Amino acid sequence: MSNDATPKPATLKLADLKLSFGGPAASETAPDAQKSPSGESEDRPIEAKVVIVGSGPAGLTAAIYAARADLAPVVIGGLESGGQLMITSDVENYPGYADGIMGPEMMADFRRQAERFGADFVTDNVTKVDFSERPFRIWVENDEYQADAVIVATGASARWLGIPGEARLRGRGVSTCATCDGAFFREKHIVVVGGGDSAMEEALFLTRFGYKVTVIHRRDTLRASKIMADRAFSHEKISFVWNTAVEEAIGDDKLRALKLRNTVDGTRSDLEADALFIAIGHDPNTAIFKGQLDLDAMGYIASPDGVSTNVEGVFVAGDVNDLRYKQAVTAAGAGCRAAMDAEKYLEALEFPIEEAIA
Ligand code: NAP
Repeated sequence: MSNDATPKPATLKLADLKLSFGGPAASETAPDAQKSPSGESEDRPIEAKVVIVGSGPAGLTAAIYAARADLAPVVIGGLESGGQLMITSDVENYPGYADGIMGPEMMADFRRQAERFGADFVTDNVTKVDFSERPFRIWVENDEYQADAVIVATGASARWLGIPGEARLRGRGVSTCATCDGAFFREKHIVVVGGGDSAMEEALFLTRFGYKVTVIHRRDTLRASKIMADRAFSHEKISFVWNTAVEEAIGDDKLRALKLRNTVDGTRSDLEADALFIAIGHDPNTAIFKGQLDLDAMGYIASPDGVSTNVEGVFVAGDVNDLRYKQAVTAAGAGCRAAMDAEKYLEALEFPIEEAIA
């Protein structure tokens, strides 16, 4: 029974907090907004129909669709919002950008489009979730959000070597995405680091551009599947450097050479190179979902159809569930699907079938 004498809402809407795009994060705004008229602080959760965790192409496309469906989504986009495209220079393979576009600019376009239809953004990291009951609960430090549906689009992060010069020359010869950046190295010497299927796939793809592709691997046997290894071994443009680690990327405004170390005898050498593609695997960003959502053996969020998870009402989109394609356009498509399914799910919650029939 509700008590009419105490009509204080148990939750806040993010819109009540007057959070504007590009403005302060909710975590910065929430404390004041959560004070009661008496001035006493109340730790009231912020309520949303849909919370989207992540702000790469998957999260932002989900936000556009959810916002256009009038669901006023709250996008908790991470401190480094925009995902992997924020560290990508020219994007030439996203349909609609005939002249190419810089990754960060594209993400700003996506975000503006979502905002236009009413999506709210929180530029902060989710620190904890509880999907054990509805409404689902999501925390950004001490700020609690509650949602009837959640879309998880936290992506995956490419592993980097962590060597000197690598960060400085990112986008200037050093990359983790051959599909994105290979075409910039026509008739150049391209180096790929790694011994798995990704490294073989990248090396094979890069033979379209480079006059020579050198694969550098830290051991003397590949981890890659036989079929991928055989393809790479038999390609005339690909050669292998075994038992070797890349220790430094050298160059001023663009990559010029690599410092190498033999992992068996410790000898050092230099190798001239125009491009270094690092293909040593990805880590899905799923740490906060452990114990809440089923993960597969490699730590990606498990989903039978690339949209639903083991928790009804929690959906997944993009690289956090995609070991295979990892493209902005596939992630965007996944975001669209997740938002459409979330909308249907919320509709069913609001109008259960028994009521509709009655
Ligand atoms: P992976 O199988 O884990 O291979 C990573 C490779 O990078 C390994 O050879 C590893 O060396 C090396 N490596 C890791 N850390 C390193 C470091 N710090 N310095 C130097 N080398 C390092 O990852 P993946 O190739 O991305 O593949 C991931 C999964 O996706 C696999 O199951 C794969 O089969 C699948 N996949 C399939 C295809 C396909 O079938 N077309 C394409 C891509 C990926 P060690 O071998 O010494 O550990």
